[in-house]
Amino acid sequence: MTALAGILARRIAAAGPLSLAEYMAECLLNPAHGYYATRDPLGAAGDFTTAPEISQMFGELIGLCLAQSWLDQGAPRAVLAEAGPGRGTLMADIWRATRGVPGFHDRVTIRLIEASPVLRKAQAKRLTGAPVDWLESLDALPEAPTWFVANEFFDALPIRQFRRDGDGWREVVVGLQGDALVPGLSPRAPLAELQHRLADTRDGDIVETCPAARPAIEAVAGRIARQGGAALIVDYGDWRSKGDTFQALENHAYADPFARPGQADLTAHVDFEALARFAVPLSASALMPQGVLLAALGIETRAARLAQSLDGAALDAHIAAFRRLTHAEEMGTLFKALALVPDGAPLPPGFAARSAAKDDG
Ligand code: SAH
Repeated sequence: MTALAGILARRIAAAGPLSLAEYMAECLLNPAHGYYATRDPLGAAGDFTTAPEISQMFGELIGLCLAQSWLDQGAPRAVLAEAGPGRGTLMADIWRATRGVPGFHDRVTIRLIEASPVLRKAQAKRLTGAPVDWLESLDALPEAPTWFVANEFFDALPIRQFRRDGDGWREVVVGLQGDALVPGLSPRAPLAELQHRLADTRDGDIVETCPAARPAIEAVAGRIARQGGAALIVDYGDWRSKGDTFQALENHAYADPFARPGQADLTAHVDFEALARFAVPLSASALMPQGVLLAALGIETRAARLAQSLDGAALDAHIAAFRRLTHAEEMGTLFKALALVPDGAPLPPGFAARSAAKDDG
């Protein structure tokens, strides 16, 4: 049993079952035992790897996409904000790639929103020399034109799960069986928030919600709506959440999410429709498969250019990284990107407009 499992078991014994969101928040961010609070989970030695850690091309293309959007809106003094920056690799690549964009480095300052002290240190190291500072939450963003980026941030926010039962819902909760933490179901209750899902679910179906996503998106969207800017969100998930996507990763392999709390990364797929709804009045782009977006931003040309100076094992690794980021059987389709802009502003390059027919899709 992990130290955190003991703590949670005592809490459940005293006060009753936890929602999945409470459980997930403790597992990820408990200051003494939480997964992110206590380690750098990224890379080969960690539990998972992410697009910016796979290749510099990801951050370079995202950086030029953001910078073009900034130019399209008149190149104002602005904040470049990132939530959950991990090791700082994405922002370092963005910053390097935008060196040549006239005025960008003079007029833009970087703000990072990061919960983990371990990762804040890594970010400071990667971004030495850049105009960077850290904020406790997205609410603390200054009132300024804001270009926002988040890669694999929203999947780490705690979710609640509900199982449909007739016209009501039973919440998935974490309880105790002997010493072991086990999932269970709360009594059935109606739920206004999920009323619209009665139309596309059946008895027994699972639907997930992410309560923390709402204030996060609202904080960013409010600034962008008032001041200008854009948000660019990349993650795994789909337009609408359906089914159980709660998962644990440990040493690059799937694990039981209740077995070793605090020792495994816990995530859930992102419900992009919910993000787009919380972001109103901003307008949302079409939901772009990562592979399609990177192709539109010119990853093939960039990959070929980088390949010219590589050979042997380094060239093989570069080709594998290109495939991993873009191929449908790797990250190309599972990962999606959504852009949010003020009503009437141009979408960032690479993003297609949303067709009304897709509203329910
Ligand atoms: N964007 C990075 C890291 C993704 S991992 C990459 O692509 O490599 C998730 C990141 O979100 C980590 O940096 C983690 O510490 C951070 N994080 C998770 N929950 C958070 C929260 N509630 N507030 C701020 N940061 C959080």
